[in-house]
Amino acid sequence: MKTATAGIAFLLALGATAFATPASAQGVLNVYCSVQVEWCTLIANEFQKATGVKVSMTQKGSGETIAQLKAEAQNPKGDVWFGGTGDPHLQAAEENLTEVYKSPKMSELHPWAVKQNTDSGGKTVGIYAGALGFGFNTELLAKKNVKAPACWADLLKPEFKGEIQMANPNSSGTAYVAIATLVQLMGEDKAFDYLKKMHANINAYTRSGTAPMKAVARGETMVSISFVHDGVTEALAGFPVKTATPCEGTGYEIGSTSIIKGARNMANAKKFYDWALTPEAQKLEAQAKQFQVPSNQATPLPPEAPKFADMKLIDYDQAKYGKSAERKRLIARWDSEVGALP
Ligand code: PLP
Repeated sequence: MKTATAGIAFLLALGATAFATPASAQGVLNVYCSVQVEWCTLIANEFQKATGVKVSMTQKGSGETIAQLKAEAQNPKGDVWFGGTGDPHLQAAEENLTEVYKSPKMSELHPWAVKQNTDSGGKTVGIYAGALGFGFNTELLAKKNVKAPACWADLLKPEFKGEIQMANPNSSGTAYVAIATLVQLMGEDKAFDYLKKMHANINAYTRSGTAPMKAVARGETMVSISFVHDGVTEALAGFPVKTATPCEGTGYEIGSTSIIKGARNMANAKKFYDWALTPEAQKLEAQAKQFQVPSNQATPLPPEAPKFADMKLIDYDQAKYGKSAERKRLIARWDSEVGALP
């Protein structure tokens, strides 16, 4: 009997060894992810495959994620924040919610990605760039005999009444980039006048920044204010979607990645941060049908990606609009002057 028990114990131990996944040997990593869920899932799976680290991933918008980091600051549950617009990553750096880390990959990156690192005192880094613009449903436009918007000014036209969707800047980094872009283009008071006028044409302020383009694709709204790379994703999926970047000029995001202050799995967070900056990891973006400009100079630009050279880009002041006080002030002004309108 004693021998049989010992035998079973031996077999159990053997089984445990034989079936132990490399993941359990390499520990875990909690990723907060602010890009589209398809890309989040792919990076989680591929990082796990490449390293044996078991990844637990939560997808949330950029504004929602910084709110979560603040709420958890005394007891951090996330290790690394992947993706999402650059401004809240800069705010998180300033508010001491993220860690300084110098990746050996920094020398391989485009200057705009490195600048994000410098602007944050070494606490975040650019992983992609994407321009803001409009998405529109070509079938709905044709049906209502409306010309596609080409300029910010067009969005105030009466034919777009109730036909435009944008996100809410409290939860969405995309919407904040839109507000900061208008402020830089027009001056703050004129930008808020514009946003108040455009309110008459808005049918919903969505939680997520990617929702308006999805609504355009499904014919639920005629026009969206979105990152134009999201339109490529929907058009490739077969939806009647086209995009434009505004004739007056437009802003852009530097999608970023940061290590969370007090991360419980710090070594794995650093491993992930380095990996996210490699061409191997950045190629997954196109595999997930996402078409931002990758930050590693050796990552091929997907041929479908919107070309910055074809757009009138403003010199978006990432450092100024990523300042904690500025971001809070502009969002509060939007809440009281625009979001509160009936
Ligand atoms: N999804 C994609 C593809 C993006 O490029 C970005 C911006 O970084 C986001 C999501 C961010 O979404 P949100 O506006 O909800 O913060």
